[in-house]
Amino acid sequence: MPIQAVEKFWMDGQLVDWADAKVHVLTHALHYGSGVFEGVRIYPTDRGPAVFRLHDHVRRLFRSAHVYQMDIPYTQEETADAIRDVVRANGLDSCYVRPLVFRGFGEMGLNPLPVPVSVCIAVWPWGAYLGEEAFEAGVRVKISSWKRNDHNMLPPGAKATGQYINSSLAKVEALNAGYDEAIMLNVAGYIADGSGQNVFVVKDGVLSTPPGSAGCLDGITRDSVIAIARDAGYQVAERNLSRFDLYTADEAFFTGTAAEVVPIREADDRPIGSRERGPVTKEIQATFLAAPRGEVDAYRSWLSLVD
Ligand code: PMP
Repeated sequence: MPIQAVEKFWMDGQLVDWADAKVHVLTHALHYGSGVFEGVRIYPTDRGPAVFRLHDHVRRLFRSAHVYQMDIPYTQEETADAIRDVVRANGLDSCYVRPLVFRGFGEMGLNPLPVPVSVCIAVWPWGAYLGEEAFEAGVRVKISSWKRNDHNMLPPGAKATGQYINSSLAKVEALNAGYDEAIMLNVAGYIADGSGQNVFVVKDGVLSTPPGSAGCLDGITRDSVIAIARDAGYQVAERNLSRFDLYTADEAFFTGTAAEVVPIREADDRPIGSRERGPVTKEIQATFLAAPRGEVDAYRSWLSLVD
């Protein structure tokens, strides 16, 4: 999906014109993947645009930066305010936000520590990541031959730019083979996550999702869905899942900020359940899509109004 230009971009403390948001080609992060980032969504509500789980995203950004020993020259509160500022400056009531902290221009080489840290925040309108029709029809996935980066290779809990070439290998392999998305296993052979989504399966009315120790990202949508499911009376287990668990599930779905909640209808050419969005997925998806729009009182605390 091509990026749609907007008016303003937040760069190192200032709102600049979109066209002026540029870096030098010798930017460290461009060569060595030395950046950390977030993906956040803004939803329209009856009280104006709201950021979904703003403080959780900012906290995760700082945690990722901590792992890579990057000092962000702003507080978490200032960063949260900057996210709101750039959304407001562009007058958008529904969009995606991409905060990025990266090693900029200064020195080359594999020691990133002397290189200055830059912070920028981009926003742009971004629709359904896996396609509008996927919300109902679901997607076809392929278990990737590429393994998710292990805890002692690149910590999967930190959203570092460089680690996403691992996800890209899996995504491209799946697309080339005619599937919509990849599911990556960890080195022990258990499901970690999709290229940019967490995975849930439903069996006999119980939801299961891999634990953080399996090497998935601790997704904020995942966390929201766990809360929604438990509040609706479902049991949710965080446990290792094998490809057998996926193939024989009654239902399966992805969760993610970009993807939101999307059913998985087929895995490696095996239909999952009836190959249609199952009743549990449908219920959780409906609540999830309503919550960020301020339509569920119990989850209003997940929203931070832009104004
Ligand atoms: N796993 C990976 C590898 C991801 O990149 C993402 C997207 N951030 C997710 C899971 C889902 O996380 P979240 O719900 O916080 O967007």
